[in-house]
Amino acid sequence: MKHKLFICALLSLLLYKPLWAEQFVANKVVSGELVKLSNGDKVRYIGVDAPADGSIFFEESRQANKKLVDRKLITKEYDVRHKDGNGDLLGYVYAGDVFVNAQLLKNGFGIAYIVPPNQKYADLFISLQKEARKKRRGIWAFEDPNDEAYYIASKGSRKFHRPNCRFARALSFDKRVIFRTRDEALSKGYSQDWRCNPLFKRQEKEIK
Ligand SMILES: [Zn+2]
Repeated sequence: MKHKLFICALLSLLLYKPLWAEQFVANKVVSGELVKLSNGDKVRYIGVDAPADGSIFFEESRQANKKLVDRKLITKEYDVRHKDGNGDLLGYVYAGDVFVNAQLLKNGFGIAYIVPPNQKYADLFISLQKEARKKRRGIWAFEDPNDEAYYIASKGSRKFHRPNCRFARALSFDKRVIFRTRDEALSKGYSQDWRCNPLFKRQEKEIK
């Protein structure tokens, strides 16, 4: 009985969609975390960090997002903060009954990225990522099997770096957090710096 109740609660969470919200069509999929709607709004997915153009796995992540939302009717749901520094909307996005933010993490095409105060689904997102990573879904198939000795993270951007990354070294000490393992950083909702890629196998060209 308890188990059944839990499943019902989980399903209603995944299928939850505010009925009063306006719907628009997704007509441009910019990246794995950003979509442009037919009314001109650009919506960045809360809780998902996907590679930007020019970074490793950009196209894989964009295509995964495209499969979920392209040309579909989109419903948005907001959290505490509605806009980012670029003026893009920050939202949870539903394509039909699919909770897109959650689905991308479940399929391993973005990293769970919890930035307060927008953390309504933090626990769900981190648990979906854990499962995707364990099953090596999506980009997790390329995870580096070896941890560095430690990682340097930025409290402000909530991204973590390899210890030799020049962007990490440029951070002042009061802005740093040290993680001993990737597990620790990921379980706290930190994403990686896509330039030094601490989660994935080293690139041919080292970041200097
Ligand atoms: Zn870095």
